[in-house]
Amino acid sequence: MSATSITLTRPDDWHLHVRDGAAMASVVPASARQFARAVVMPNLKPPVTTAALAAAYRERIQATVPAGLDFQPLMTLYLTDNTPPEEAERAKAAGAVAFKYYPAGATTNSDAGVTDLRKTYKTLEALQKAGLLLLVHGEVTDPNVDVFDREQVFIERQLIPLRRDFPELKIVFEHATTKEAAAYVAQADGYIAATITPQHLLFNRNAIFTGGIRPHYYCLPVLKREEHRLALVQAATSGSPKFFLGTDSAPHAAHLKEHASGCAGCYSAPAAIELYAQAFDAAGALDKLEGFASFHGPDFYGLPRNTARVTLKREAWTVPEVLPFGDNTQIKPLMGGETLDWKLQP
Ligand SMILES: [Zn+2]
Repeated sequence: MSATSITLTRPDDWHLHVRDGAAMASVVPASARQFARAVVMPNLKPPVTTAALAAAYRERIQATVPAGLDFQPLMTLYLTDNTPPEEAERAKAAGAVAFKYYPAGATTNSDAGVTDLRKTYKTLEALQKAGLLLLVHGEVTDPNVDVFDREQVFIERQLIPLRRDFPELKIVFEHATTKEAAAYVAQADGYIAATITPQHLLFNRNAIFTGGIRPHYYCLPVLKREEHRLALVQAATSGSPKFFLGTDSAPHAAHLKEHASGCAGCYSAPAAIELYAQAFDAAGALDKLEGFASFHGPDFYGLPRNTARVTLKREAWTVPEVLPFGDNTQIKPLMGGETLDWKLQP
């Protein structure tokens, strides 16, 4: 008989976008209801490049957490070619946990990203010394590399040399999407881990094209072939402490995704843990969900595990098709209008 209910240590989201202003106020409550902590990405416009900006952003986020919910944003700084090495100590003193490396032009608001990793080496040394993590968007931006191959090329061209040069730096390969990334992280020695999104566990690239172009399934790194999805499910459900939950929930107004040049990102926050439960259940691995969602992340970051518990019940429910977003716009959550089998209990 299959389980009708599962109880987990309260999970954390190790990769989250909450934007700013009115948009932020409409998405933070969804994550705060599900997660105790979230690693908040710094790709605002302009990006969060200093400890002072990160501390101010944390205060703005905290002001949108509904009363009675316990939710801690873990702040990150946006690494640029010009980030001074001293910013690492300032970031640590301000309670930030990591710097985010975006190759220039790789995704939403990444124009200020790094043009050549070697320009950042003094700062990376300072990160390593301060014990801060480096979170990487693992795709090359070389236009000659096929968009579906950019992650695996990143491993060879950038990640392996980077890890050789900084063996003590804790690196998270964010939103791993390929069998090559899963295999590299699983087998590599030392301080490397990866987050995996719900959409990359649940869908392959056919989802973007089924019955017409479906912009709400477009994210970066883009969904890949089925063999990659299967490798990610295997990694996430393997029990390996190197893989943990990071939704990469990336809210954009619906009209900016349903557009001639639609924005990249899936808004998964409203049903995040339920989406992961769906994927783990389909793999017959619900017993591995707690490690992935609640233990491996804090263990890798060197933070305490949460102590509160949450319960999911096997209870069919429909994800809302549309939700209010920011100032008079709307947002369409991942799998909106579709039925999920697990529901987080209030
Ligand atoms: Zn992201």
